[in-house]
Amino acid sequence: MNTDSASGSPTPAKRRLRAVEVVAVDHQNERLVTIDFAGDLDDFAIASPTQHVKILFPEAAAHSVEMPDMGPNGPEFSTAPTIRTYTPRRFDAASGVLQVQFVVHGEGPASIWAARAQVGDRLALGGPGGRFPFDLKHQKWVLAGDESAQPAIGTVLDALPDYAETRVISATTSTELESALRDTSIAPDANVWIAGEASSVRRIRADLLTRGVLASRLVTRGYWRVGTANHPDHDYGED
Ligand SMILES: Cc1cc2nc3c(=O)[nH]c(=O)nc-3n(C[C@H](O)[C@H](O)[C@H](O)COP(=O)(O)OP(=O)(O)OC[C@H]3O[C@@H](n4cnc5c(N)ncnc54)[C@H](O)[C@@H]3O)c2cc1C
Repeated sequence: MNTDSASGSPTPAKRRLRAVEVVAVDHQNERLVTIDFAGDLDDFAIASPTQHVKILFPEAAAHSVEMPDMGPNGPEFSTAPTIRTYTPRRFDAASGVLQVQFVVHGEGPASIWAARAQVGDRLALGGPGGRFPFDLKHQKWVLAGDESAQPAIGTVLDALPDYAETRVISATTSTELESALRDTSIAPDANVWIAGEASSVRRIRADLLTRGVLASRLVTRGYWRVGTANHPDHDYGED
């Protein structure tokens, strides 16, 4: 258990950093790498689909990050850490292995690290956090997203009951995603969850609302934005 060095009391899970080590790397194709982590994950648990973790990445040439000291208010860094948001795709409590799937999109410390990741690399992560806004017992679903959202969509599919009627729309590019959604008719009683590039998600949201999809049945998330490093994890695309 992590403790605050000052008080000796347990560090709240939200402020806690977990030291993890890469135990497997699987390049599924040139744009996607699945990485398994083990380490300080004893009490890790995914409470709902589409949760996220905050991962600390090393600078360009390095493979590992050093764990910071823990202070009374959480981790204390000498320089600002490089943090990005990812979906815990699976966690196997029996083996203690956490799986994360990284899009290798070219630039950015997370993408660069993932492309070169090796067994034994050491990272730190916080979380998981976030909630899923829909009732999983609902019958009809449309789940859509670009590459970055495929892990999150996978967590929803894993959590839905057998009777769920689910349409999954996945695309590599934002243009493909927008075009596929324009061509999709959406049942009025379907719950619709969409994530991807932030500007694209806004256009999709506006289009679906115009087409009569109820705001109460529509959840959109901007997972990244062209030209922005470390896009925030709470972009609902509703502005
Ligand atoms: C809740 C949540 C869950 C997420 N889950 C996942 C996940 O499981 N897997 C995953 O791969 N991503 C996921 N993302 C997206 C991921 O956080 C961003 O893509 C992040 O920007 C990647 O960091 P980076 O260091 O590679 O690039 P950054 O330094 O953040 O960005 C550098 C540049 O790269 C470009 N860029 C960033 N991301 C992408 C991308 N996906 N495709 C193309 N160009 C990009 C932008 O133009 C940006 O200017 C998630 C985001 C959120 C908010």
